[in-house]
Amino acid sequence: MRGQIFRRRTFVIGGVVLLAVVVAGLLAWRVTRAPDVPTLAFSDFLQQVDQGQVSAVTIAPEGLRVERPDGHRARTIAPPGYVAGNPTFVTMLARHHVRVTVESGAAPDPVTWLLLGLVVAVVGGVGFVAYRSTAGRVAAIESRVAQADPHGAVVTFNDVAGVDEAKDELKGIVEFLREPQKFSVVGGRVPKGVLLVGPPGTGKTLLARSMAGEAGVPFLFASGSDFVEMYAGVGAARVRKLFKDARRHAACIVFIDELDAVGRTRGGHSLSHEEREQTLNQLLVEMDGFAPNRGIVVIGATNRHDILDPALLRPGRFDRQVHVGNPDMRGREAILRVHARRVAIEPGVDLRAIARGTPGFSGAELANLINEAALLAVQAGRAAVTTPDLEAARDKVMMGAERRSLAMSERERATCAIHEAGHAVVAALLPEADPLHKVTIVPRGGALGITMQLPEDDRHTHSREYLEAQLAVLMGGRVAEELFLEQVTSGASNDIERATAIARRMVCEFGMSPLGPLAFRTSGDPLGRPPAGALSEATAELVDAEIRELVMRACGTARQLLDRHRPAVQAVADELLASESIDADGVRALLATAMLPPDQDRNQARAV
Ligand code: ADP
Ligand code: MG
Ligand code: ZN
Repeated sequence: MRGQIFRRRTFVIGGVVLLAVVVAGLLAWRVTRAPDVPTLAFSDFLQQVDQGQVSAVTIAPEGLRVERPDGHRARTIAPPGYVAGNPTFVTMLARHHVRVTVESGAAPDPVTWLLLGLVVAVVGGVGFVAYRSTAGRVAAIESRVAQADPHGAVVTFNDVAGVDEAKDELKGIVEFLREPQKFSVVGGRVPKGVLLVGPPGTGKTLLARSMAGEAGVPFLFASGSDFVEMYAGVGAARVRKLFKDARRHAACIVFIDELDAVGRTRGGHSLSHEEREQTLNQLLVEMDGFAPNRGIVVIGATNRHDILDPALLRPGRFDRQVHVGNPDMRGREAILRVHARRVAIEPGVDLRAIARGTPGFSGAELANLINEAALLAVQAGRAAVTTPDLEAARDKVMMGAERRSLAMSERERATCAIHEAGHAVVAALLPEADPLHKVTIVPRGGALGITMQLPEDDRHTHSREYLEAQLAVLMGGRVAEELFLEQVTSGASNDIERATAIARRMVCEFGMSPLGPLAFRTSGDPLGRPPAGALSEATAELVDAEIRELVMRACGTARQLLDRHRPAVQAVADELLASESIDADGVRALLATAMLPPDQDRNQARAV
């Protein structure tokens, strides 16, 4: 709706500006238009006066207007000083019976006056409209603050599902907002700013609102695009106003949606860049300007945190990031249940089955699915939503959204599940590797699946065993594809890249190869390729051979482990296909049931 109003305003202003240009052009033409009377040389004029061919002369500021007895008109210009202050000139004219009139100052004719008045009115009008509309939009932010009053529809954590990790991270902030004084006494560090990062429709706005609902504090909403205006300084003024309101309403939440619209990396030259920079600076100033215990928490949302200005992410600003991703199968089921509360659903409808059939759906799309299903039921005159309604709605939502992630076919999903199971099983079996955290085939970013390991602590030095174990984990994906599918896919390219980089560092920097503890100079290249000419050709060949050896040995380790534990890999892959993600305990449980006694494995893992 805002877009429509905005378009109408642009249209009106455009029309008015066009009118102003036309009128001003007309005016200019009238003033500068060439007179349609001939111009006489002054000497000819004097001669004609002498011959009695001039009946009247008007002395005007721009020159002399001449009239002949036959009614013809002409004009002429006298030499400087010839007319003014020279009474003999007028006397001479009088002697020849010429009627003399004097015109003082330029007296524009009424039409010129009218046009001039119009220009003033139009310019004034444009200014007024512009002022009114920006004032109106500043006021609009105010009214949104009022709407966000907790007495409106209160949203709580119960209305948000499938993002449990994010909720856990945000609970502490809710505690703080409930009792800001308590925290300032205890002196706990409370973040001023939290950045919710994730793709559209995953519930970032909803999470922020539900935090306000949980804490019972006002929710001040603004969108980054509200601050990016064509009039310089307006964005900054709005930021100032927003934080003024926030101080008045504290404790409260200030939510800035689409933070990237203002927070884009600085440095550019266009006008809009300057305006945005001013706005961004104002935001930084405001965030630095209140004490952390004031009870104001600023929550930003973005799906592009990579383009944010680093200044926004510094301590005291948005220094805490919470990732909000697309839900996995369990999450989707939970979200469907949340939204199904609002409609009548026929008993016996299996929402879990719907969740299974909607991989890659965001929370917003699931909410949409339930709405569409309810509409279909109403259209068909049914009192409650049935399974076919839900399935038809799913297809509709799926077609509406361009689903690149969903283009993952059944076959691709199966490949991905085996690949990730390979990583996960190797990681779980090798005690030296970083402990397994979670494995999932929910597509995110560019990756189809991901196996997450959590380093036990920030390691600064790495043992050879640790690095070799990491190599084996990285190779586990590709090796599992070979073993189980007898084919390889391009899905392992990132694994291969990372493994090659590790192996190269082992050889060139850590002295972990038969080439000995020598440093072979590498460049800053992420892949660690040496700069041209740094190594002799023969040495470069040796280095490459050692890197190859390390990676191939890691493949061997992975192959031996996975081959020996085929049932476990298959069980993990099947579970991934069924529920899309498994945590570390889940993987361990599957391993325990599907494999040899753990003792034996440990020994065996060490043996390779
Ligand atoms: P975002 O801000 O991440 O783009 P929104 O919070 O605006 O997403 O989500 C839009 C709507 O989709 C919400 O109002 C809600 O109805 C639904 N929705 C999205 N994510 C969830 C979720 N995790 N749980 C429940 N509903 C959700
Ligand atoms: Mg949103
Ligand atoms: Zn992989």
